[in-house]
Amino acid sequence: MMLLTRKMIEIRSILNTIGQGGALTLPSIVVIGSQSSGKSSVLEAIVGHEFLPKGSNMVTRRPIELTLVNTPDAKSEYCEFPALGLGKITDFSQVQRTLTDLNLAVPTEQCVSDDPIQLTIHSPNIPDLSLIDLPGYIQVVGKDQPVELKQKIADLCDKYIQPPNVILAISAADVDLANSTALRASRRVDPRGERTIGVITKMDLVDPMRGVEILSDRKYPLRLGYVGVVCKIPHQTSGLFSRTGANVTNAVVKNENAYFSSHPLQFGPKSEVAVGTTTLRHKLMHVLEQTMAASLAGTRDAIVQELEEATYEFKVQYNDRPLSAESYLAESLDSFKHSFKEFSEQFGRPQVRALLKEVLDQRVMDLLAKRYWNKPVEDLSPMQPEADPLSELPKADPNSLYWQRKLDASTSELTKLGVGRLATTVVAAELQSHIDKLIAASTFASHPFAQRSIVDASSSILNDRFYSTSDQVENCIKPFKFEIEVEPNEWSKGRENVGRVLKSELKACETAQRQLEDSIGKRKLKDVMGFIDRVRKGDVVLEGDGTGGAGGFSSALLQKGREAVFLRDRADIIKMRLLAVKSKQCANSKNKYYCPEVFLDVVADKLTSTAVLFLNVELLSEFYYNFPRELDLRLGRHLDQSEIERFAREDPKVRRHLDVIKRKEMLELVLEKIESLRQLEGRAKKDQAKP
Ligand code: GDP
Repeated sequence: MMLLTRKMIEIRSILNTIGQGGALTLPSIVVIGSQSSGKSSVLEAIVGHEFLPKGSNMVTRRPIELTLVNTPDAKSEYCEFPALGLGKITDFSQVQRTLTDLNLAVPTEQCVSDDPIQLTIHSPNIPDLSLIDLPGYIQVVGKDQPVELKQKIADLCDKYIQPPNVILAISAADVDLANSTALRASRRVDPRGERTIGVITKMDLVDPMRGVEILSDRKYPLRLGYVGVVCKIPHQTSGLFSRTGANVTNAVVKNENAYFSSHPLQFGPKSEVAVGTTTLRHKLMHVLEQTMAASLAGTRDAIVQELEEATYEFKVQYNDRPLSAESYLAESLDSFKHSFKEFSEQFGRPQVRALLKEVLDQRVMDLLAKRYWNKPVEDLSPMQPEADPLSELPKADPNSLYWQRKLDASTSELTKLGVGRLATTVVAAELQSHIDKLIAASTFASHPFAQRSIVDASSSILNDRFYSTSDQVENCIKPFKFEIEVEPNEWSKGRENVGRVLKSELKACETAQRQLEDSIGKRKLKDVMGFIDRVRKGDVVLEGDGTGGAGGFSSALLQKGREAVFLRDRADIIKMRLLAVKSKQCANSKNKYYCPEVFLDVVADKLTSTAVLFLNVELLSEFYYNFPRELDLRLGRHLDQSEIERFAREDPKVRRHLDVIKRKEMLELVLEKIESLRQLEGRAKKDQAKP
């Protein structure tokens, strides 16, 4: 029959994890008693170890759901706190410390908490039992305790002593039973005494005759009876027990037997009263089994109903779509890798080339501005729209050392600007920013942990490749630092490109100018620009630094005016440069001193082509090959079950979906267990009926 209790306790534990209570659970034995009635001593005698929080000021503040699992073949004992995931604990003093900490964690103003602590003990020396230890009733509230404590404890106990639970009401023999808080409480909820077991502790503290009288109480008769015990752990050895983990039960029983057998008349074999911890243990096992078996059918029906609801929810809300944390992760990872593959097919050599060229074009622009178009803007102001711009262009004589040096210095600045580093940085940054975009568009967007892993994966590969790639690129562009030959077709391509770049610069300038016009009005802008031009020419002398405004214009307006003048001058220069590039002189590579823009563009183009060649092999291909593998490593094989679970549950939608499935699975499991249990029960009954 013991197997049945074990199985029912197992079912009870599973139902606990589904967590609903009510009809969806199986009964347990609830232990109540006043403080110092000997409640802890009784529980520890049953378990065989000191493990409950002690101390003068220690009030148990949370229920402890104690599941005892008999493991007949095991040599060692261990405890587990299933909700805490601390693993197997073999040291009972550590269990005691953990329970103390969990109790102390309840805030004083809350007094007590009804959130139970679950503790499972596996041992060959204990029976299969399910017990709930509740805070002891207090008579008087201590100085530093909240006044509501007494009532809160009583309320908490009331919640647990409801049917179908069995009540283990503990009272001390040396206190009048009429004053026993435990018995009074159980009488209120169980007036006919049908599910209460009375335990009378400290039998050694009263006269044996009085003891017998108490155990045969007629004022509150109990169907399950009273049991008298002496649970005091023998003094000389108690410290030793907790330290060595030796079994307390044997010592208690020995001590107890010595007491009861010294009064054979009252407690001997012929006696009518039940005494002893061993008797109590057997009674608990028997009563729990009976009570659980009686509840089984009702619990089963409740589970069937619950299961129907979960199945319906799964069907309606989730379309019966299966999902597990692992499959969710695997699918997310697959689709991310898929989108990465799509990206890698779109971002190849031509794209890298365009990206790099654009960066170098900008550098060329800056360089030209610095070396050729570097005259102060004011000095160009005589150039009026009606004047012929070409007449203002610098006349570069190809034989002049000055112009040769100028172009050589510009070229060398371009080839020596650290193209290797620049190109690698630009491409790596582009890859990283694409990865960020892919993450944002993927399911990983709502998973911070996965996001970090992916970003780490890409940056670790890019960092690994960075130095060797930029060195390679730098090495390969070395020849251009000494000599550059230009073919006619290269020249004309460069000329076209420069035209394009300048045009787009011009457009940007003009757009900015128009925005200024729109913001303050065309008329007003013209006025303030005219004023600034006059100041420049020296026609007007500014008083002070102009910060407080001048010429009837506010300082903010002057600022806008200056911007507009700058943009206008810049646009004029760009127009002039465009004309120069388009001019006949620039049609031929022989005129490179006259057309530095085109020449430098050709150089930039050569640098780009060479760099791209190596970037493609050293960075792009490597990245495309390694990144998916690195992802697998970090998000696939590397994660353990709990990490995968945590990952999936980061997304509330997924969490709800997983919860419904889990609930359904657990209910199905429990139902299956109940059915097999009932078959077992049926068979046992048939065997008993056989002659
Ligand atoms: P709790 O507050 O109800 O958990 O009570 P404890 O189990 O801590 O016991 C209170 C005190 O009573 C402790 O000092 C125990 O040693 C003592 N005690 C418990 N059971 C017995 C017993 O059967 N006989 C005697 N003499 N003392 C006991």
